[in-house]
Amino acid sequence: MTRALIVGGGIGGMSCAITLRGLGVEVDLIDLDPQWRVYGAGITITRPSWRAFRRLGVLDELMEVGFGGDGIQICNAQGEHIGRVDDPDMQGEDLPGSGGIMRPELHRVLSSRVLSLGANVRLGLTVNALQTVGDAVNARLSDGTADTYDLVIGADGLFSGVRKLILPDAPAPTYTGQSIWRLFAPRPANIDRRHFFLGGKHKVGLSPVSSTHLYLFLPETTPRRGIIPDRELHLHLRELLQGYAGPLVELREGLSESSPIVLRPLEAFLMPPPWHNGRVLLVGDAAHPTTPHLASGAGMAVEDAIVLGEELAAAQHDVPAAFAAFTRRRWDRCRAVVENSIEIGRREQAGRPAAEQTELIAKTLALMAKPL
Ligand SMILES: Cc1cc2nc3c(=O)[nH]c(=O)nc-3n(C[C@H](O)[C@H](O)[C@H](O)COP(=O)(O)OP(=O)(O)OC[C@H]3O[C@@H](n4cnc5c(N)ncnc54)[C@H](O)[C@@H]3O)c2cc1C
Repeated sequence: MTRALIVGGGIGGMSCAITLRGLGVEVDLIDLDPQWRVYGAGITITRPSWRAFRRLGVLDELMEVGFGGDGIQICNAQGEHIGRVDDPDMQGEDLPGSGGIMRPELHRVLSSRVLSLGANVRLGLTVNALQTVGDAVNARLSDGTADTYDLVIGADGLFSGVRKLILPDAPAPTYTGQSIWRLFAPRPANIDRRHFFLGGKHKVGLSPVSSTHLYLFLPETTPRRGIIPDRELHLHLRELLQGYAGPLVELREGLSESSPIVLRPLEAFLMPPPWHNGRVLLVGDAAHPTTPHLASGAGMAVEDAIVLGEELAAAQHDVPAAFAAFTRRRWDRCRAVVENSIEIGRREQAGRPAAEQTELIAKTLALMAKPL
């Protein structure tokens, strides 16, 4: 096994590139986006996700620019503290309980590592055809070139083109009934851990992403929204935040046309195995796309890369055997995250009591804390 093609240079694809370079594999990484950009939103990092980043070898760099806190402070819509969700106990792991980082910072750290390890990154490209023939995969790229690889990793996210090529009967993403609003804002000093405001019309969360900033998130239950012009986003978010007190008042009143707001519909589905066909494997959101209710999608994509590296090494580079072992190890864990994330979203949409939402978060985080 000497040559790999990775399709998609997001969190999963870059993590796989780092792992495969560590095994001495020559890596071509292609991404559809000619600028290799990520949008400027924050993400939450749970303790199991920190563990995955440590095993990938990027923990210290991420900690320098991200934020490590602990637990989730549960508040009511008035901002009064009504409970707490503790981080999962991971004995022997000296890691922050949870935290967050801006996507562009995460991308900068991972992409610098990928490039410094000598992966061959080509942008503005996708794959049009993949065929496993014997011990190789023939790949035809969108620039008309063709090449042969020992393995191909489909890390091209929720709407994966690789998934359509190798598993045409796989389910398609389904809108879950919620769209999520995210606002990047200065962090008041007393918001030093995640805060959830439950019991109002919507769930609202605050998640620190650096020593100076946080992001606010609000999953809105709504039929799929059409495009809202950027200059109007703040008006909608201000309306959604009406009726909340505590630290949300200042954030609401500070909204303006120039506020950095990102709105995304939530789509997910559970894809039963197989996640591979011949020598082509799906990882990350291409294999197990989840909603962000457990803030674990990014961590799972990194875990995929670590487990893949271990299984390729254990199978002594027998690629199909490694892919089958990979899926066996990942299935239960990924299924729990996808199913429980969707279920938490359902409970939010049904206005279930706060305890019914936090109970499933705590239970799933405890599961995620188990060894990979
Ligand atoms: C609103 C929202 C909030 C989230 N919050 C969190 C959070 O707080 N914590 C957390 O852990 N996770 C969170 N997630 C989930 C997390 O973002 C994903 O699980 C993670 O990005 C998956 O990584 P990936 O590499 O599989 O896919 P992506 O990060 O989506 O990367 C896919 C890459 O493939 C490229 N690509 C796409 N199509 C093609 C193609 N046909 N050919 C070539 N390249 C292609 C794209 O340009 C992109 O670079 C959130 C997700 C959403 C939608």
